[in-house]
Amino acid sequence: MFDPSKIRRDFPILSSRINGQPLIYLDNAATTQKPRAVIDNLSRFYKSANSNVHRGSHTLSNRATSEFEAAREQVASVINAPYTEEVIWTRGATEAANLIAQSYADSILLPDDTILLSVMEHHANIVPWQQVAQKRHAHVAVIPLTPAGELDLAKYQQLLIKHRPKIVTVTHVSNALGVINPVEKITEMAKSVGATVVIDGAQAIAHELVDVQSIGCDFYFFSGHKCYGPTGIGALWGKKALLEQMPPWQCGGEMIEKVSFAGTTFNRIPFKFEAGTPPIADAIALAEALKYLTNLDRNAVAAHEKNLREHAIQHCQHIDGITLLATEPDNVGILSFMVEGVHNQDLATLLDQSGVAVRSGHHCTMPLMEYLGCSGTVRASFALYNSQAEVIRFAEVLQDCITQLR
Ligand code: PLP
Repeated sequence: MFDPSKIRRDFPILSSRINGQPLIYLDNAATTQKPRAVIDNLSRFYKSANSNVHRGSHTLSNRATSEFEAAREQVASVINAPYTEEVIWTRGATEAANLIAQSYADSILLPDDTILLSVMEHHANIVPWQQVAQKRHAHVAVIPLTPAGELDLAKYQQLLIKHRPKIVTVTHVSNALGVINPVEKITEMAKSVGATVVIDGAQAIAHELVDVQSIGCDFYFFSGHKCYGPTGIGALWGKKALLEQMPPWQCGGEMIEKVSFAGTTFNRIPFKFEAGTPPIADAIALAEALKYLTNLDRNAVAAHEKNLREHAIQHCQHIDGITLLATEPDNVGILSFMVEGVHNQDLATLLDQSGVAVRSGHHCTMPLMEYLGCSGTVRASFALYNSQAEVIRFAEVLQDCITQLR
């Protein structure tokens, strides 16, 4: 069994007290805490390696460039990308979705084309598609869920046949329910009608072993801060042939080959999509976070997180008036619930008084909340450093808070 007690020592923030109580951090789906290796790496870079990257003619710049490009290789290796230049740095998942929508989709969509996405998508993987659909006079169609909260594959098949979408995009893991989507199957089905497949990996990267080649998708993206790395950095992977044919997105330095008033030409990938000075230290620290993760037994980590969720279900399911969502599927460590007669925000605020950090509200999945017939949930999300003892304490505090609020 995976033992989080040693791991916890790597995360300085976990020894904090919040409102006089030991912190129990269960808001990992919003952002994960950072291990000392990542925090130290950021400070090391600024203390001894800081310089701008590419085209530098001095030692420090060359050093920063090789670290920055090595970080790109680390990302490529973690997701099993065939070519390192297929990895583009972005500010995170949101920016990646916008890049694909505004560059790729905008250049291929014709009037009445369809983009097919699921009802469980995060707003970041809905709104960019709605915007480009509106601009190109195309449509967005929505894949519903089964009563267990999983993507309805039978309905998906019907929608594929009905719309023959140009693009299918789904999240690998739902941030609100923790459901793991069968992305290989979803991709295979989309390919049978010739669709381009985009997978939002924001919630998967910390929990699942991601292999873009075995998924078979065309684009995959994630945020660094959800896998123990810094905020403001993420990565988009795309198939070389598609990236090469896509028009540039943001313009400025680095993405050009030659600028002239007679006409500007653009750099090769990945630089074509990286306008301006990138978040250098953050990209390097993200690679450090990925190294930290890959040095662990990932299967044991995933089993540990799922166990925490199982444990939480067992301890919470008998609480009077509680509805736990999507408990059936073999989800990642995310547990969403509602309590009759208690507002999710009041509950989260009271939990915080006892040092328990959870998230409440719509989790940037308003269409999913509407679909489920609720305005919001409380979400406890577990990471590798959470312990069984924390889960037990969480369930006890939850019961107390509910009693106080009733
Ligand atoms: N997609 C999913 C599934 C998410 O959970 C999130 C963030 O919660 C995002 C996209 C957006 O990530 P970011 O805010 O880091 O860009």
